[in-house]
Amino acid sequence: MKSITSKLPHIGTTIFTKMSKLAQEHNAINLSQGFPNFEADSKLLEMQNQAVKNHRNQYAPLSGLPKLNQAVLDKANSLYGSNYAEDEICMTAGATQAIFTSLAASIHPGDEVIMLKPAYDCYEPAVALFGGKPIPIEMKAPTYEVDWNEVQDKVSSKTKMIMINSPHNPTGKVFSEADMQALIQIVKNTNILILSDEVYEHMTFDGRPHLSVAKYPELQSRSFLTASFGKTFHVTGWKLGYVLAPKLLMKEFKKVHQYNVFCVNHPMQVAISEYIADKNTYLNLPDFYQKKRDQFLSLIQNSRFEFTPSEGTYFQMASYKNISNEKDTDFTLRLIKEFGLAAIPVSVFNKDEKCRKMIRFCFAKTDATLEKAAEIINRI
Ligand code: PMP
Ligand code: GLN
Repeated sequence: MKSITSKLPHIGTTIFTKMSKLAQEHNAINLSQGFPNFEADSKLLEMQNQAVKNHRNQYAPLSGLPKLNQAVLDKANSLYGSNYAEDEICMTAGATQAIFTSLAASIHPGDEVIMLKPAYDCYEPAVALFGGKPIPIEMKAPTYEVDWNEVQDKVSSKTKMIMINSPHNPTGKVFSEADMQALIQIVKNTNILILSDEVYEHMTFDGRPHLSVAKYPELQSRSFLTASFGKTFHVTGWKLGYVLAPKLLMKEFKKVHQYNVFCVNHPMQVAISEYIADKNTYLNLPDFYQKKRDQFLSLIQNSRFEFTPSEGTYFQMASYKNISNEKDTDFTLRLIKEFGLAAIPVSVFNKDEKCRKMIRFCFAKTDATLEKAAEIINRI
């Protein structure tokens, strides 16, 4: 059998696949991989069925269905006061492809890409694949503040891009106005690009606004903004997302996209283009997920885990330092096997995979699942 020289010699199978598989094998409650275990709105599902029946089953246009593109442009421009035009959007196979293709289009060998750790696990391998050099900067535990002075110190003549993600997976941190202003100060008068991963834009809590790069001309003009309908409409399996970027960046993005996938799922774009016309489908989301967070946290408030309420996303981090000295990867394995509960060990997202005795729970689950999970958590 022939083998090939690995382009990603240090990368194994993603933690999400590992944990969801183990959860299934051990019949555990799965609060690990981030996906809802409840059904999407039946209206949306029916719209998709209708689109299939109405013969919308051939290729969609390269950059997306015009009706959907327009709806998303209008939504972003009205929520964030941006001025994205028709040729500054492209539908993608989830935010994952939006991120990957943005990097493919912009990273040259030797380019440095600053990323804040913990970081979602698809960033670093994609940067490395295109010959880029990830420059990790730790957000400061336990509050996960970004030290923007440190970011400034790490900027060099090779810095091509800064990657940000607010609301942030896994910490639940939401950037403040001060964070955005600090970022603006660092990039203005430079050619540094930004990749802003905003898949959780509609999940911010306790009245916090989502501060998109689209709100700030200095940032909009240099950013790939990536987003996911999977997250917003409870259909992660549809793998539909998009990228917004200024013309010159989008031109390069589409050059890669056309040979990467050409276009993405047509009937699902039809369904979303109809569903998104009702603003409540996304404007009600912060309230919906805040209730889930609050319910989950009130159920586990007397457990031995320590936590600070998540500011956004559908994730809650928790410290098990009062429970065990194990590494988080061992601890989460034991949780599955002994207690029937799956969570994500946060070290996999950390700089140098350093263990801080933190795990991540996903609370995008039915009330019944959260109750069962809490009953287990309270016994640990
Ligand atoms: N970025 C972050 C921060 C995520 O948590 C995820 C996971 N959904 C993605 C990107 C990928 O999104 P999608 O499933 O739409 O590819
Ligand atoms: N974004 C999801 C999470 O953080 C997982 C998506 C995936 O499995 N690739 O759990």
